[in-house]
Amino acid sequence: KLVPSGTSGPTLTHCPYCALQCGMGLSVTDGRVEVVERAEFPVNRGALCGKGQTAPALLDRAARLTEPLVRDPETGRLAPASWDHALGLIAGRLQGTRDAHGADAVAVFGGGGLTNEKAYTLGKFARVVLGTSQIDYNGRFCMSSAAAAGRKAFGIDRGLPFPLADIPRTGCVILVGSNLAETMPPALRYFTELKENGGTLIVIDPRRTKTAEQADLHLAPRPGTDLALALGMLHLVVTQGRTDEAFIAERTTGWEGARAAVMAHWPELVERITGVPVPQLRRAVEMFCEPENAMVLTARGPEQQAKGTDTVGAWINLCLATGRAGRPLSGYGCLTGQGNGQGGREHGQKADQLPGYRDLADPAARAHVAEVWGVDPDSLPAPGRSAYELLDALGGDIKSLLLMASNPVVSAPRAAHVEERLRSLDFLAVADVVLSETAELADVVLPVTQWAEETGTLTNLEGRVLLRQRAVTAPSGVRSDLDVLSELAARLGVEKGFPTDPEEVFEELRRASAGGAADYSGITYRRLVEEDGVFWPCPENGESAAADGPTGSGAGPAASALGTSADGPANSAESPTGSGAGAVSGGGTGPESASGDARHPGPAQLPAGRHSGTPSGPHPGTPRLFLDRFATPDGRARFAPVTHRPAAEETDAEYPVVLTTGRVLAQYQSGAQTRRVPELNAAAPGPFVQLHPRLADRIGVGEGDPVSVVSRRGRAVAPARITTAIRADTVFMPFHWAGEGRANTLTHPALDPTSRMPEFKVCAVRLEAAGQS
Ligand code: SF4
Repeated sequence: KLVPSGTSGPTLTHCPYCALQCGMGLSVTDGRVEVVERAEFPVNRGALCGKGQTAPALLDRAARLTEPLVRDPETGRLAPASWDHALGLIAGRLQGTRDAHGADAVAVFGGGGLTNEKAYTLGKFARVVLGTSQIDYNGRFCMSSAAAAGRKAFGIDRGLPFPLADIPRTGCVILVGSNLAETMPPALRYFTELKENGGTLIVIDPRRTKTAEQADLHLAPRPGTDLALALGMLHLVVTQGRTDEAFIAERTTGWEGARAAVMAHWPELVERITGVPVPQLRRAVEMFCEPENAMVLTARGPEQQAKGTDTVGAWINLCLATGRAGRPLSGYGCLTGQGNGQGGREHGQKADQLPGYRDLADPAARAHVAEVWGVDPDSLPAPGRSAYELLDALGGDIKSLLLMASNPVVSAPRAAHVEERLRSLDFLAVADVVLSETAELADVVLPVTQWAEETGTLTNLEGRVLLRQRAVTAPSGVRSDLDVLSELAARLGVEKGFPTDPEEVFEELRRASAGGAADYSGITYRRLVEEDGVFWPCPENGESAAADGPTGSGAGPAASALGTSADGPANSAESPTGSGAGAVSGGGTGPESASGDARHPGPAQLPAGRHSGTPSGPHPGTPRLFLDRFATPDGRARFAPVTHRPAAEETDAEYPVVLTTGRVLAQYQSGAQTRRVPELNAAAPGPFVQLHPRLADRIGVGEGDPVSVVSRRGRAVAPARITTAIRADTVFMPFHWAGEGRANTLTHPALDPTSRMPEFKVCAVRLEAAGQS
């Protein structure tokens, strides 16, 4: 261990929940685990939300599984079993399914909370041991539309292509569909500092959320119309002559097609579609365009739609047309949600990707990874189904499922149908920390270790790879996911290649990712501890490849291909000062970042391009992407010629109200963990239906009265929470709960054609006072 745990001092680690991956210390005294502030960690500077503060409660034996469970064929109930019996049963049933129906009859479903090592091993297990193409993960339900739009526009996506520390130093941020004041409260300080520095914040959300309350301007469009809103803003940018023609000419392609689409979305039409008045639209354009630098950040609001890729593409178009991309303190970014939503998709548990953010359909990528794995490239399966399509096929051509760290009974769209598909399987095995609603349906449940009980890496929303260190010993009876996969591989005839030591796995992951877009080859566990994380790409051979990079300035192969890296103007080893003190073009002479200090420099203080500050040091990692060129073959960003289209399910006389779903402060994702933490459960004990007083009057309900929300897919019932902070044509439900208040019973499974993201954020419902039919 790099930093010992125990009573001698806190172990430096990270929160088990969201993509901010707040740093924290954990101290253990007489068996009692306490959170200790880790003020020096730059991302959260010691701040934690209530979820992070109470995370040690997850380690309580009473809250979690401590022995394998196997369904008793006679009673039909889950009963304790030995590890040997449980693993033998899983291996036998998976092999039996393969023998009877073929490899693709076995599926694997992962989670965005798995460490990079586990996600990597799970992808390798599926493709090498099971030989199945049927693997995807719940991150598909998180930021896949932003990933798809980012890849289309820039050639690669990385949540934020710049550090969070850049936010306070830009001029304006448009925050689209993010309620970070509730989902990741410590991040709010970056926006508070933005305002203190004279910048402005625009929040786009159908609800006046706690985040929207902080905004200088809040636009509240109808759910599912933010694509039109972005087009309307860009229309005004064009007609007001605010485009950056030099940037468009030098660094982009496809503007003519995008421009033509934009010109069809004149402001009055956009007002009719979105409900946002034209003067507000004009004000937003003014605020975004007047400062020298500006950013657009999206989250689940625009992304979790059946047109999420185009919606994000429209916001990227706005950045490109105004020259707010590919330079310091400006750009587009996605606020990823799950703890390892970013890293989880980079290393192989996504249906179409191999480690290093490689495309599974690319012969060169297959050859590289196959060599690391010691297998024939032709033996690697083709890309498989996306998450919802995979779940929808359960009980059809997919007969058996191995599921890790996910709870689709609560988190998948059209959840009652997904639950029914899970029940129809021949065999379901679940590895999890707790007996989630999905684990309750399993034939075998394996109790596995969790965050503070194991070491592993995660990649936060900035692309900063972090080491979450083990601080406590797991209870007896519990084993790690890596142990599980190694044991199953051996029982299925693959004795080698599945180590159980996370650092050993990471060393292999480094080789598998080398040369890929998400190149981790220059990252080591020790560096992660010493440097508070390293931003990818970070090629191991950065120095030797440096002279060959297109800039001739020291980028490694991946970094050079991205044209980004530490060698861009923000932190060039060859800066005009010749001293390695990088100058920030377009703003580098401004005030120092509030977050900057000697150890964690702000943009204007960034060190030389080499980690050591010398030409011979290791690659420093890449805090900022795209400064020299975008990661497309010609180095130019690509406009998306997108147009508005309606939601998959529009309101009508039978279902006249729009339902949108989301999160609350005290719960996380499907609630499988946070609902077991007493303080969090007390703060947010159950679902609710947020609705406007006019809507409440219309159906005759008062505050706290039960409301039935009915869609074409089912009915959910929860108490009314009446507020003017929501549009009168819209209701909101948080999705953290199972049972009759399960919001995802109602949601629509229509999929985005590119990202395969379901339409979580908009569907048509009708409301009834509960008890009416
Ligand atoms: Fe930080 Fe997110 Fe954990 Fe809260 S849940 S402490 S914001 S990482």
